[in-house]
Amino acid sequence: MTFDRFARAELESFFRRREELGKFYCGTCLAMQLTRRGARKVSEAAWTAAVEEAFVHPGLLQVRSVRVCEICKKPGLTIGVDSATSQAGD
Ligand SMILES: [Zn+2]
Repeated sequence: MTFDRFARAELESFFRRREELGKFYCGTCLAMQLTRRGARKVSEAAWTAAVEEAFVHPGLLQVRSVRVCEICKKPGLTIGVDSATSQAGD
C-alpha cells in the first residue's frame, strides 16, 4: 500500500467515527487532528499533504465551501461527511 492510499484509508476511517459524523474541518485543523489522533508514524507534514490531496479528490468525503470549521470556527473550504444525505438539497 502506498502512503497516499494509506493516508486516504486513515482519513476515511477518521470520518467514519461516530463522533466525527456531520463535522467539517478546514485543512489546517484536520491535519492537526490526524497528527494527534491518526497513525503515529505519519508526520504532520505528510498529513497536511494528504489533506490537501483529499480536498482535490474527496472520494467518499465531501468538500463544502460554505461551512464553518468545527475547531477554528472560520468559514471557508472544509471537508467532512454529512450526518444525513439531504435528498431535497439544501
Ligand atoms: Zn479550522
